[in-house]
Amino acid sequence: MNLVFLGAPGAGKGTQAEYICRHFGIISISTGNIIREALKNGTELGLKAKTYMDAGGLVPDEIVIDIIKERLAQDDCKDGFILDGFPRTVPQAVALDKMGVVIDKVIEIFVPDEKITERMSGRRVCEVCGASYHIEYKPPKNGETCDNDGGHLIQRKDDAPETVKERLRVYHEQTEPLKGYYEEQGKLYIVEGQEDIKDTTRYTVEVLEN
Ligand SMILES: [Zn+2]
Repeated sequence: MNLVFLGAPGAGKGTQAEYICRHFGIISISTGNIIREALKNGTELGLKAKTYMDAGGLVPDEIVIDIIKERLAQDDCKDGFILDGFPRTVPQAVALDKMGVVIDKVIEIFVPDEKITERMSGRRVCEVCGASYHIEYKPPKNGETCDNDGGHLIQRKDDAPETVKERLRVYHEQTEPLKGYYEEQGKLYIVEGQEDIKDTTRYTVEVLEN
């Protein structure tokens, strides 16, 4: 079973991918991880990617695609995989098809933007130990400072409302056409993210078993 997982930043896609892999005994391939792996192993492609990253730029599609191709050819992918973080755009999806990689289903973990913004804007992390809290769902005991060390709780730059809004905008701009592309192929399934992540997993498993 070869899958692609889509989801806005903060929708919980990565967590779901992890659970689903365990459930079906397949592996999860996150683009970020395999690029880091290629860098660490010093492969030719890894080194190419590094020149772009060192220059502060994005790794071009052709290189990302070759790295994925290399990864998918490995033995542990033969029972199936989840691609997490790739493709992000229609040209990348087309490239994947051209590569001869058969995708069986594409799952989008859907959470409305307002909900994502609410979840992310409430996140706080401890300046000292990095422990994470949420002002509403997981507040510190005294309501203000870290339970472990009394450290000051701050909002990460990634969780600031303007940053979240911009990341959501980019996601919708790039991914809506991608959803259309897979919908035309009859492969797109949308699973609504639930309050309890276990429920989301249950719905996802149902979609994949039918
Ligand atoms: Zn702390």
